[in-house]
Amino acid sequence: RAKAAGRGRVEVYDDELRHALAAQAAVEEGLRHALVADELVLHYQPVTDLDTGRVRSVEALVRWEKPGEGLVPPGRFIPVAESSDLICDLGRWALRTSLAQLRAFDAAGGDCAGLRVAVNVSGRHLRSPRLVDDVRDALAATGTSPERLTLEITETVMVEDRAAWSRLGELRAIGVRIAIDDFGTGYTSFGQLARVPVDVLKIDKSFVDSDDPRTVELVRLVVGAARSFGLGVVAEGVEQAEQVHALRATGCDTVQGFYFSRPVPAARLEDAVRGCQEVFDATCEFETAS
Ligand code: C2E
Ligand code: MG
Ligand code: MG
Ligand code: MG
Repeated sequence: RAKAAGRGRVEVYDDELRHALAAQAAVEEGLRHALVADELVLHYQPVTDLDTGRVRSVEALVRWEKPGEGLVPPGRFIPVAESSDLICDLGRWALRTSLAQLRAFDAAGGDCAGLRVAVNVSGRHLRSPRLVDDVRDALAATGTSPERLTLEITETVMVEDRAAWSRLGELRAIGVRIAIDDFGTGYTSFGQLARVPVDVLKIDKSFVDSDDPRTVELVRLVVGAARSFGLGVVAEGVEQAEQVHALRATGCDTVQGFYFSRPVPAARLEDAVRGCQEVFDATCEFETAS
């Protein structure tokens, strides 16, 4: 009996595994098709300057316009893409597309002219020897100056892969900037923070959300450390006016979040950029910039 039940369990397990693998393969195939069929699109979320309310940079965030399913968020397909070299194809596409978009903004000459862009780079692409060439090619193909491009790499990838640090050095030598994304969710020590070859630190939403006094103090310390190391700081996921006031008090340079603007398609970015300034003016009207 025990043997039979055991075999039963193995069969159920096999079945679930088969289903999971089939589902994964389906997403992968769909995604491969999406890349050639132009179903992927970048949305752009403004990063607002906390001194002036100006937007000088945006983060590019991929979405999948899947026929019949609407807009699929990256959380549903990036993890699948990361299990194969598909993530590198997607990364190359995101670099090319976002830089071409900057050029289109420049040519249009409106409020989006001269913006910088931040593009998310996965750990697998960072480990691939092609990344440096992919970045160089995208810059050359679009005639973009490298200082307008920031590559975002999550803290977890940065910490788990010390070998990647030399690649970051190569990228910075080209002139692009490097940001640590989701900072606070990994385990960077203060010692590492002093040495890691990066330019910008993005404080994770979970810290922005906390009103525990110790966490608030921790954010203040991290912002202070970042500034004395000469790093820029972006706070992620700001949703409330109180958070804007609290972050300004810590000396944080810039913020990103639904309070100012959601990520929007390129065609709506100009309105979003103007909206950020209006929200800033209304929120910080009675405060003087430090
Ligand atoms: P991330 O790079 O940390 O991006 C920030 C995420 O927070 C975005 O989710 C953004 O829409 C969301 N967000 C921004 N402000 C707020 C807010 O005020 N409240 C809340 N609740 N959320 C906010 P999204 O677009 O779903 O992207 C999720 C993750 O997927 C990104 O996290 C990034 O790790 C990954 N991702 C997105 N696009 C790409 C890409 O082109 N390549 C790679 N490799 N990863 C990408
Ligand atoms: Mg990011
Ligand atoms: Mg992040
Ligand atoms: Mg995040």
